[in-house]
Amino acid sequence: MRTQLYIDGQWLDGTGTLEVIDPSDGSVIANVATSSDEQNLAALEAADRVAADWAKTAPRYRAEILRKAFEIMTSEADYIAELISKENGKALPDAKGEVAYAAEFFRWFSEETVRTPGDFRLSPSGDKRILVTHQPIGVSLLITPWNFPAGMATRKIGPAVAAGCTMILKPAGETPLTALHIVDIMERAGLPKGVLNVILPAQTGPAISKLMHDSRLKNLSFTGSTAVGKILLREAADQVIRCSLELGGNAPFVVLDDANIEEAVKGLMLAKMRNGGAACTAANRIYVARSIGDKFIAEFAKAMAALTMGTGRESGITLGASVSMKERNKIAELVDGATSRGAKVHLGAKTPDGAGAFYPATIIEVKKDDEILANEVFGPVAPVVLFDTDEEALALANDTEYGLISYVYSEDLKRGIRFAEAMESGMVAINRGMISDPAAPFGGVKQSGLGREGGFDGIHEFLQTKYIGVEI
Ligand code: ADP
Repeated sequence: MRTQLYIDGQWLDGTGTLEVIDPSDGSVIANVATSSDEQNLAALEAADRVAADWAKTAPRYRAEILRKAFEIMTSEADYIAELISKENGKALPDAKGEVAYAAEFFRWFSEETVRTPGDFRLSPSGDKRILVTHQPIGVSLLITPWNFPAGMATRKIGPAVAAGCTMILKPAGETPLTALHIVDIMERAGLPKGVLNVILPAQTGPAISKLMHDSRLKNLSFTGSTAVGKILLREAADQVIRCSLELGGNAPFVVLDDANIEEAVKGLMLAKMRNGGAACTAANRIYVARSIGDKFIAEFAKAMAALTMGTGRESGITLGASVSMKERNKIAELVDGATSRGAKVHLGAKTPDGAGAFYPATIIEVKKDDEILANEVFGPVAPVVLFDTDEEALALANDTEYGLISYVYSEDLKRGIRFAEAMESGMVAINRGMISDPAAPFGGVKQSGLGREGGFDGIHEFLQTKYIGVEI
């Protein structure tokens, strides 16, 4: 298990350590090195020093490093899944799903590396040529959250390598072990020294702020909360640093009156319960047509009650722990608040005793203006609201400052597409509970972020467009 920093191709101790906790029992898994300001600057210095040479490497060469990383990661999938489950708490089936998803970013971007398109056109006046090419932006800071410790790292490292950018990775303090293992894989896959560096500052805010004000830094790719995203966007303004921000979500899951209930329940189980609800794509507000409300809630409650909660990596467990007691307590507080305001409990809603950061699968029926609907719960809690008309459902779905993903279930595709087009989100799932796909552009509108990761767009977060005008 790697527990050191990785700077300029060397594994190094830091100036302190940080405890990584197993949230299912509160025990310490490892002490990971934390970086000093000097070490953070050394990482930036290394990334800057090798940037020009790295940018000039052949796309085929970079593609093969990513392909090798995909193969190593796939061959170590079981080990990585256990590591994720241990430091994050999620159930092993979720962790295995994450590893496959994460590795796929390496494969997808290994294929994209050699296919970056350019453009060559005749000017409308006919006497000039318009050449458009794309060049690596340069040193990129990658900041990742704890909910997908592997997926969020590969989703940034993959396109950065593909584009020819050098990197400084700052993983979440709760889950650095998986990120360090991925960096170890990149090293074994042949990534040259200095191209990827990992720091873990003891005081994140001030340390990152220093990097954001160093002229050698050119690009930021951040996944995390909207609150921190806004701080970083303000900091980026000082040097006009390019930003790709994947922020919070508050996904509506709309079940129209003609939906296939069985399919919609299956979809909701994925949309709500994958990762124990700790996903920015998690269905956070469930809107169900009143005419099918009772039947839907009964079926959904059956599926939720069939989950087995416990230590994520043990066999048969389908609902693991939250990442920390702090996160678990936040979930409990939100549910307690809703029940104190009169929410009807259909399942769960009781905080367990003990040292593990557990919260049970919970269904509550709430009024359409209940406060819980304005919060990203990030746990196994499904607040359900009944609605009467499609117009009402659409207005409720869009009544949020977030806009990452929306879900809609209807057997009438026309109706589904009408909804999808009117939903204010960067992604819409029609009759599907999970649409994240390395081959598709992931990202939000409104306060859910800027930019897209994955798909054809993903590499462009690490490239800048250059127009070359030619007189012939
Ligand atoms: P979460 O609620 O998922 O923990 P955060 O936005 O707090 O979301 O954290 C996401 C990532 O951002 C983590 O790696 C965290 O350490 C980092 N982070 C937190 N505060 C700051 C900050 N002020 N500047 C830069 N990164 C930060």
